[in-house]
Amino acid sequence: MKTAEIAQRYLDYFEKNDHTIVPSASLVSDDPSILFTIAGMVPFIPYLTGVVPAPYPRAADLQKCIRTNDIEEVGKTARHGTFFQMLGNWSFGDYFKEGAISYAWELLTSSESDGGLGFAERDLWVTVYEDDDEAAALWQRIAGLPAERIQRMGRADNFWTTGQPGPAGPCSEIYFDRGPAYGADGGPAVDDNRFLEIWNLVFMQNSIDNVRSKTEFDIVGELPNKNIDTGMGLERVAFLKQGVENMYETDQVRPVLDRASELSGRRYGADHEDDVRFRIIADHVRSSLMLLSDGVTPSNEGRGYILRRLMRRSVRAMRLLGVEEATFPALFAASRDAMKESYPVVETDWERLSAYAFAEEETFLRTLSAGSTILDTAVEKTKASGGATLAGDEAFLLHDTYGFPIDLTLEIAQEAGLGVDRAAFDALMQEQRQRAKADARSRKRAIADVSVYREFRALGETTFTGYTDLETETRVL
Ligand code: ATP
Ligand code: MG
Ligand code: MG
Ligand code: MG
Repeated sequence: MKTAEIAQRYLDYFEKNDHTIVPSASLVSDDPSILFTIAGMVPFIPYLTGVVPAPYPRAADLQKCIRTNDIEEVGKTARHGTFFQMLGNWSFGDYFKEGAISYAWELLTSSESDGGLGFAERDLWVTVYEDDDEAAALWQRIAGLPAERIQRMGRADNFWTTGQPGPAGPCSEIYFDRGPAYGADGGPAVDDNRFLEIWNLVFMQNSIDNVRSKTEFDIVGELPNKNIDTGMGLERVAFLKQGVENMYETDQVRPVLDRASELSGRRYGADHEDDVRFRIIADHVRSSLMLLSDGVTPSNEGRGYILRRLMRRSVRAMRLLGVEEATFPALFAASRDAMKESYPVVETDWERLSAYAFAEEETFLRTLSAGSTILDTAVEKTKASGGATLAGDEAFLLHDTYGFPIDLTLEIAQEAGLGVDRAAFDALMQEQRQRAKADARSRKRAIADVSVYREFRALGETTFTGYTDLETETRVL
């Protein structure tokens, strides 16, 4: 079953059950406090919090999402993409737990010939919030699940909040057992690789207050209007239905991976480290294409910086696969062809998107080769003077002036038999961060107009994440 067909089945099922089908919002969220749409819930926040009355009692959608906090998992787990698509169904004060559980179970387990997804009941497990006896009882009654396949989890896993006082509630998640070849028995509480999370049902029934941390807050009451918010990972269902090993091997992603394999002359499946690189490339190229198609362009801050980082990580991974020439013309075209059925804009706007992508790769390749020359000279000087370590300020200069990633410096130094004074490099990075923070503070003070200030504050937060991202970037690029 192709990815697009799974999405269509989901939407058809909920449309048949009186849900209004809502088109995906942009990856660039309207909410200035978050960079991207990270879940199907984001565009519905005003309805879920009651700030704006929902225009329909029930809705379903397929939402494009970007989660950069999963970037380190990409290619290493089977299930994390920086871009992915979340299917969701919503009830705004209409059906509640019983409805949400019944719909999810019916869609997952009805046969393919009946329009369902055809999962075998024996492969499914669920989790509920530790106190949620009601949900546990419903799973038993509706799905006939034995008690041992309904696991209880605490706040960290199964209680949804926005991190702010206001609406919140317990969740219940549905997992697929991939079998003993993938890990230990004992359910999702024991092994999240063997037991793959596919669907999260959030029961928004409470109000919380005194939020001290993600798990420390007071549940202060029941909401008069209870809402349902669900999210099912399309790529996760696709990889199970397509009988492949992970989301990077599904029909919308795999063609990029294959193209990278052709360009490098290395085979996917032959070497673990290479395989991780192939998967990173396939993921990051697709995410970049989708970000470009939603109007993000590469830059040094905010959203544009995330895009730049994804593209550079892909270039870097191709280099580690032995390819030093430009690869985006081939890779982005492969991604375009795999995505255009679901997102025609990647084809209709191809000229613009590809111009940004190709230019970005050219610039980064120039950076890499300029940096390499300077680095080679520094390595020779160090060796000639009998040193065994490249000075921290050399590494910092390369990073700061030429945008040359530190781990590339480490790798090239290592090939030449040298270490790098990492402590000195880190100290210089730290100093630079302090300076940047001080600059940002004085910039903020200089602004008088309040509306501009608000935008700036959002960007300030962005810049702030940038610092931690930068750390990550230097580690991974
Ligand atoms: P995980 O624990 O596997 O990281 P999650 O609990 O963070 O997932 P939710 O926030 O509950 O995920 O999102 C709802 C659904 O979206 C998940 O059940 C999963 O199917 C899908 N999903 C979440 N993150 C990703 C991702 N990075 N790539 C692909 N699908 C994802
Ligand atoms: Mg997660
Ligand atoms: Mg989870
Ligand atoms: Mg979850």
